Order: sequence, then C-alpha cells, then structure tokens
Amino acid sequence: AMILYQDQFIDREQAKVDIEDRGYQFGDGIYEAMMVYSGRIFLLEPHMKRLERSARELSLSLPYSVGHLTENIKKLIELNNLEDGVVYFQITRGAAPRQHFFPDNTPTVITGSVSVRTRDLTSRPKGIKACLADDIRWLRCDIKTLNLLGNVLAKQKAHVSGAGEAILHRESTVTEGSSSNVFIVKNGQLVTHPADHFILNGITRLFVFDLAKQLDIPYVERKFTVDELLDADEVFITSTSNEVNPVLQIDDQIINNGKQGPISERLIAAFDAEVERIRSF
Ligand code: PLP
Repeated sequence: AMILYQDQFIDREQAKVDIEDRGYQFGDGIYEAMMVYSGRIFLLEPHMKRLERSARELSLSLPYSVGHLTENIKKLIELNNLEDGVVYFQITRGAAPRQHFFPDNTPTVITGSVSVRTRDLTSRPKGIKACLADDIRWLRCDIKTLNLLGNVLAKQKAHVSGAGEAILHRESTVTEGSSSNVFIVKNGQLVTHPADHFILNGITRLFVFDLAKQLDIPYVERKFTVDELLDADEVFITSTSNEVNPVLQIDDQIINNGKQGPISERLIAAFDAEVERIRSF
C-alpha cells in the first residue's frame, strides 16, 4: 500500500518515523479520519475545517494550504484504488530534542494512509451494547488530538466487558462515547451534549442534525444525565466509521426492549440515502 509522507507518496514499508517525533513522545499532533464511498470522500469539507481548527487551537502551523493537503489525500485514495474505506490523516509537531515546550522552526510531520472497508448493509449489526465509564480526559476534548489515552482506557474497559462502546460521564452528565458522540431520544426529540470543550464536535453529529432537519425530527443540544440516558426511549452513537449506531443495552439496562427504535431507523435510512447519493455523483 502507498502512504502519504509529508508531500510524497511512498510504500508503507518505506515509511519511518523519528523516535523523537513529538507525536510519538507527547501525543503532540492532530488527526482526522474520513470515510470514502466509491472513491469519494464523505463530508470532506467539515473534516478539513475541523483539522484547521484543531491546528489553530494547538498553535500548530500547517505547512501547506488545506487545498493542497486535500489534493494529496485525494491522490492517496487514487493511488491505492480505494473504493470504500477509511482515510486516516495526521500531523504532528515534528521531531526535535525532547523538551515539553514547542521547538523552533521544526517541520511538522504529515502522514496519511487508507484501509479498505466495505459498507455491507446486509450484515450490518442492528445495534451494540455499551458500558458506562468515568470521563477522566482533559478539558479540551473539542480538539481532535493524538492524545487519546483517556479514550483508549475507556474503550478497553468496554472491550473486555464485551461492549462495543464506552459511554463517558463527568459526575452525572453524559458527555460522549470513547470514539463517538451520544444521542438519546425522549418523547420524539433528539438530545445530545452541546459542542463545548467537553466533547468532540463530531462531523457525523452535525450531519445527523442536518438529517433531523430534513426529517422534521426536533433536536436540542443540552446536557443530559446518566439517569436520562438509561431511561431514554432510544440511544444511538454517531461517528465517522460507525455512522448512526443504536445502543440496545448499557451495562445491565436494556434500551427500547433491546430493539432498534423508530427514530434511529429513520436516521439510518436517510444516512444510507445520502451515501448512495454521493456514490452516484
Ligand atoms: N468523539 C470522539 C472522542 C471521537 O474520537 C469521535 C470520532 O472518532 C467522535 C466523537 C465522532 O466524531 P466524527 O463524527 O467526526 O467521527
């Protein structure tokens, strides 16, 4: 497979990262993951906007324009003949003798890679189990940084308990999933945590708002509690790779009798239609 390294395309095996890369030593960098459907990047613009914002929030200066970075990502997809899959893109603050403060004049390190993932509607699971986990992360969860240890520990907790996702909470407030945003449905209304520094403002989350508008499903961004979560009519998570995914059980609590709810179903159908639409452009 070919990968993107800085401004070049090289073999995966040829790629080497310096042991003093700040991404490696400090998690000092940013990333985006985007879906590719029929060779086209889904929701490209908001992803690249968020990348720019993440860079700005960390005072990481991008070495190329977003236009140029985007061209390289598209070229990477072409070179690998990727039809359906994921493109992963990251930028670190580069390699420099280890000290915490920013190095001067050190070039950032850009890498990008793709992986095949077919979007199989027939074998798609109709929902997942989740567990609850304390949100022990820092207070800038709005930045998409490589520093994911809090997320990793939460996902591991889910994994060993046979759950597909960990739903995080700070005290009684539900924030988001370890790698997803969390929505509840109550009395026909969608509720999700506001886009402040406690969550990543997911591109799929924003896309679900668009779908909800199209479908006349009311939604509100407000904090909600663990009790509201467990008592919800429906629960689903959203993320780039898992799209809209119903949560049918949280620890021992069964949601909606363990079945995908009607509002989740409508959103999933609308999501599928949008994916088919971009395929046919
Ligand atoms: N929240 C966290 C912590 C994430 O890591 C992710 C994505 O991986 C999301 C939310 C969902 O964001 P998006 O829909 O942009 O993939």
